[in-house]
Amino acid sequence: MRLMLLMAFMFPLAAAAASLPKDEPVPGGVVVIQLPDSGGTQPVVTRKDRRIMVVEHAGHWYAIAGIPLATPPGQHMLLFRDADSTARQIRFNVSPKVYPEQQLIIKNPQLVNPTPAQLRRIKREQSHLQGVLDSWVQQPAPQLGFLWPAAGPETSGFGLRRVLNGQPRSPHSGIDIGAPAGTAVRAPADAVVADLGDYYFCGKTLTLDLGQGLYSVYCHLSKITVKRGERVQQGQVVGAIGTTGRTTGPNLHWTVSLNGTPVDPHAFLISGPAVRAPAAAQKVSGRG
Ligand SMILES: [Zn+2]
Repeated sequence: MRLMLLMAFMFPLAAAAASLPKDEPVPGGVVVIQLPDSGGTQPVVTRKDRRIMVVEHAGHWYAIAGIPLATPPGQHMLLFRDADSTARQIRFNVSPKVYPEQQLIIKNPQLVNPTPAQLRRIKREQSHLQGVLDSWVQQPAPQLGFLWPAAGPETSGFGLRRVLNGQPRSPHSGIDIGAPAGTAVRAPADAVVADLGDYYFCGKTLTLDLGQGLYSVYCHLSKITVKRGERVQQGQVVGAIGTTGRTTGPNLHWTVSLNGTPVDPHAFLISGPAVRAPAAAQKVSGRG
């Protein structure tokens, strides 16, 4: 405790800026790049015309970018623009990562192959949600160390390549946490409620805006206890686990999105579940 107090006294900037996420430049991971010194003003960083998060940490600026799951391994580039507006390229390397495959069987054919009316609804909801996740809200110091959001083990991992009734589907965009319906769900970090709704796949869904293109999305909730625009604090109860939307049992599907792309929430987690899921008891959620 004494040491921590001393450290906080010595490094007030670092304490204010909080932790950086884990630097793992792989598809579905997060790359953390220290930027050239730009004399105090926050540089602007883009990747393919999309704004990238920039935070100050221990006296330096860092670019923090989510890497889409479909990104081919190899060299990639960020564009860095400092106060005098000179644009510079920053190169980084993406290493390959192969995620495990998961075979799912769902008996209700309607849930596997939605009707045309359901497909229209799904498209509408997906573009609405993507619009939320693509929004940029300037927040100088987003909280980048996340708390585990619900008392339960991880039952399904990020990036799983899912095969549904023999047909390949999109990879798992988040992690699932298995717990009884009604279990409290908490904000992973300080945030503002950006969106809530009841969607076909996701069910009752809460999207929290953490700033600079970083979002936390909770799906399948039984209830949501916050309002749009409300400011929430890290650890605050925002809803409860449920079975709404397409899921085979009560679980929390948790997507973390950065610069419009889902990334592995573990990049940001500073705490984990108290218990691990036994392999045999793995629950399978529909789309999840
Ligand atoms: Zn899921």
